[in-house]
Amino acid sequence: MTVRPGTRRVDETAPESAPEAPPTDQARAVLDVLLRGTGSDFLVLTDRRLRIPRAGSTAARLAERPSGELAGMSLIAAFGSVALDGVAREAIERRTPRQGEVRLGRLGRRVYQVDALPLRAEGLLMVLHDVTNVRRVEQVRRDFIANISHELRTPLSSIKLIAETLSGGAVDDLVTARDFAGQIEREVDHLAQLVDELLELSMIESGEVQLHIEPTPPPEIVTSVVERMRPLADRNRIRLEELPRPGGSDSMARAAADTARLEQALVNLVHNAIKFSRPEGAVRVGWELRPGQVRFSVRDEGIGIPASHLPRIFERFYKVDRSRARASDVPGSELRTGSAGLGLAIVRHIAEAHNGSVGVESDEGVGSTFWIDIPAA
Ligand code: ADP
Repeated sequence: MTVRPGTRRVDETAPESAPEAPPTDQARAVLDVLLRGTGSDFLVLTDRRLRIPRAGSTAARLAERPSGELAGMSLIAAFGSVALDGVAREAIERRTPRQGEVRLGRLGRRVYQVDALPLRAEGLLMVLHDVTNVRRVEQVRRDFIANISHELRTPLSSIKLIAETLSGGAVDDLVTARDFAGQIEREVDHLAQLVDELLELSMIESGEVQLHIEPTPPPEIVTSVVERMRPLADRNRIRLEELPRPGGSDSMARAAADTARLEQALVNLVHNAIKFSRPEGAVRVGWELRPGQVRFSVRDEGIGIPASHLPRIFERFYKVDRSRARASDVPGSELRTGSAGLGLAIVRHIAEAHNGSVGVESDEGVGSTFWIDIPAA
């Protein structure tokens, strides 16, 4: 290799101990970009005493202060996080990179993974990576497994108890044995219903269900749902009625609906309305035209839902109180008593798959009205 006079070989560059060159314009521009952050990630520079020499807009937003104000503040004063300060302090004291997870932002709602990297000269470079969504998904998965386990445990323990009682001698008493067999059958039905609902929900949630959307006259849907649910309503001594149809030009309205899916959602609502009604109560199914939407509604005069539960009622596995349903008082009512709190979650997902939405109004002791808004065709 020939080295021309005046040129330096790469390995002859400044030795480790040389003072750092002042940042070039380009290096400063790069630092500015990095300090500004990417939206979910951002950098914070601190000096040896954990003061912030300058900060980007993302850091400032998270600290809820103007970026100018952040410069010169201590890390703890700027972000108010003892955990963040702890990670930084350890990295400075041990002169090695440290990692941690901290909550920042308003009410500590956002979770950040922090890498605190000691700089050769002095101070720290802290890289903060937003993991809020990852942690949220993990929490949802944990809750989901806990809920399913809880829902499975009750019928499984009953079946085990019945089997033990039978094998302990009850099998010889024909009447008791037949009664127990009936109980096992009911518990197995609950389990099968739970599995069906879970499969249904997971298919709709994952977008695997292809909707066949067609312009559909709303009365067709309402009449079909009422006819399908009439036998169940009769057996439970509930008056099931269609609300008077809108007249005039509204009668020409069409909903952009997958008829089978939308009917299934309304059947779930009518089923609940019957389940939570008192005998001789009325359940009314209807529709109306709203701007750009067709609203299908199911109104009952049942026990209602306490206001504190309403915001969460469409979440999967959410139940107000298992003992409130009256289905078990009515022999042969054929209502699903093994409720797992999935019915309304399915309704919401069906509505959302249509680009629609759901809603509820309820007065405890007076009744509830559930509705599904579907885009008009
Ligand atoms: P479940 O399978 O338990 O019926 P849903 O998701 O269909 O689950 O309903 C969730 C909860 O909402 C029910 O457990 C019940 O407490 C309440 N609920 C639903 N519909 C009604 C209604 N029409 N009247 C009163 N409470 C209702």
